[in-house]
Amino acid sequence: MMSAGDVGPAMVPRAAPARRSGTVGAVSCRAVPYNRCMAHRVTLIPGDGIGPELAEATRRVLDATGVDFEWEVVDAGEAVMAEHGTPLPEHVLDSIRRNRTALKGPITTPVGKGFRSVNVTLRQVLGLYANLRPARSMAGVRSRFDDVDLIIVRENTEDLYAGIEHMVGRDAAESIKIITREASERIARFAFEYAVANGRRTVTAVHKANIMKLSDGLFLESCRTVAADYAGRIEFEDRIVDNMCMQLVQKPELYDVLVLPNLYGDIVSDLAAGLVGGLGVAPGANIGTDAAVFEPVHGSAPKYAGQNKANPTALILSGALMLRHLGHPDVAERVEMALRHVVAEGRTVTYDLGGSAGTSQFADAVIERLAAAPAVAS
Ligand code: NAD
Repeated sequence: MMSAGDVGPAMVPRAAPARRSGTVGAVSCRAVPYNRCMAHRVTLIPGDGIGPELAEATRRVLDATGVDFEWEVVDAGEAVMAEHGTPLPEHVLDSIRRNRTALKGPITTPVGKGFRSVNVTLRQVLGLYANLRPARSMAGVRSRFDDVDLIIVRENTEDLYAGIEHMVGRDAAESIKIITREASERIARFAFEYAVANGRRTVTAVHKANIMKLSDGLFLESCRTVAADYAGRIEFEDRIVDNMCMQLVQKPELYDVLVLPNLYGDIVSDLAAGLVGGLGVAPGANIGTDAAVFEPVHGSAPKYAGQNKANPTALILSGALMLRHLGHPDVAERVEMALRHVVAEGRTVTYDLGGSAGTSQFADAVIERLAAAPAVAS
């Protein structure tokens, strides 16, 4: 059974490369040593909108695995603006720095005005340079394909997300796209290390270097430079982003690990989520040298907030990525298997998967299945 993600440089190349969706970290993400007498201290940010319900469901599932967690719950987002004058108070960052691992629900970002995205700020301030977003078909989830197994590796710190924008007079605006060799080579290396560690075959760099010859040209050149170090082990190819989108909706099974600058990575990972059944099932990890934050691809879906309606799959799968990061690959596998079982069975799933169960009933079903499956120590 393939897994949705190991972490860390347990990244030994596998002799018989069964294709896995795997090891979360590549270059810098280290499995955190786990002394069985010690709990893992993890920062838990419930987030806005549907976030708190999903966070509670996920916490219950993770606690039910038997791995000992000590959750440090801290709030960020809309709810803390009034009290702290910022959606991202310093003590939230301190908590993540201290614990080095966080599980995070989605946080609302006002469109076109208001505070800067907490999500983008977190990634930049903590140096979470790699955004890993596996997209893998699940039995029981209605979608056009049943054999998608893509890994999206998105650069997380620069590009148009650098936040350098200004008005030019009243009627024009400029956003500056930053691409550096250092960040591009670092993300390319992450993608290749990930491929090696998880028995993947091919890394595809995605760009628009035919038009943005300097910025995207530098990204592509950096990927080529890094690819040379993996020649004979991992194949390398590149695609222009518009063509890549068309190819993905026609024949996603041809692609394996994709590495992209920030903006294309964001867009293409939503596209990939759509290929496997939607945002409700797409997990993610933000990995840096000193910390890692696990969160779903989806946002806070405010219209479903507080209704016990949203699908917790993406956050639970993000929790499984976190288990791998913390050095519990077998437990992560159990969580994924239990979740896949519940989804495939289809009796206790949320509205987006064609069911009528609530968020908490879905979590109960996963927990019940976990209890039924044999525990494996890891
Ligand atoms: P969204 O992902 O919140 O929701 C889009 C739609 O997808 C929802 O209306 C719903 O139909 C569906 N959906 C999403 N998650 C679901 C789930 N778990 N279960 C069932 N259905 C689900 O996207 P949006 O409406 O564009 O964004 C809402 C807010 O979230 C915005 O403020 C945005 O900035 C923010 N956002 C935050 C993050 C993050 O925290 N990392 C990511 C994306 C968007």
